[in-house]
Amino acid sequence: MQLAELKWPDIEALSRDTPVVIPIAALEQHGRHMPLFTDSLLLGEVIRRVTERLNDRVLFTPLMWLGNSEHHLDFPGTMTAAPRVYLDLLKDMVENFLVHGFRRIVLVNGHGGNIVPGQQAMFEVRQKYRQRRDLLLVSTTYWTLGAQPQKQNPSLVQDQMGHACEWETSMMLRLRPELVGDYKGVPELPEVDRFRPAHRAWITKDLSAPGHIGLPSNATAEKGELLFRLFTDDVTRFLERVVAWDGASDVA
Ligand SMILES: [Zn+2]
Repeated sequence: MQLAELKWPDIEALSRDTPVVIPIAALEQHGRHMPLFTDSLLLGEVIRRVTERLNDRVLFTPLMWLGNSEHHLDFPGTMTAAPRVYLDLLKDMVENFLVHGFRRIVLVNGHGGNIVPGQQAMFEVRQKYRQRRDLLLVSTTYWTLGAQPQKQNPSLVQDQMGHACEWETSMMLRLRPELVGDYKGVPELPEVDRFRPAHRAWITKDLSAPGHIGLPSNATAEKGELLFRLFTDDVTRFLERVVAWDGASDVA
């Protein structure tokens, strides 16, 4: 079900156990070869495919395209909410649905910079409604749900998500090839974080002058289709777990 297409009496008639999915993404630089709307286009495609399988059981809001992208602001065109504004924005969107009586709210994320704010927003809302035993507030990012694409296609060079990388460029070649620039001529920039396992605070220019992180010249549309398929399966299975939740977080 698409929130944007329903009337308020339709929403009123829904079971309050219906999971509400809020897709969150970004509009930010994606290197010299990929469009600014990459994260929103890719998450939108994953959600579109998931919707085909779960449309009668889950309520989907429109995708929130403004994200936490301040680390990309040195590149022209990037738009961002200030990190604290973004945190409050996510909390407000979640609380809107608590006001409407829904109990299962899911942030499905498609941008690395939204991971921490998404988790923190859900944490803070949960503390605020700590007397409730019937709430399920979860956030997840589509490429972190267990997919191991290299096992299906060993020609994939990357084993994790980068930025405007082999994975994202492959999916864009599958989805909107006319928006992809010269990805073959792009230098390889594997992610090098010399301070792992500590978490280094970075701006993109600490890691990459052109803006991408990863190995985009290895991208193919065929790899992109595989990635879309695996991520769609993962998100679908995850949302089926939310649907199947017994509705009580009380362990006692
Ligand atoms: Zn991206």
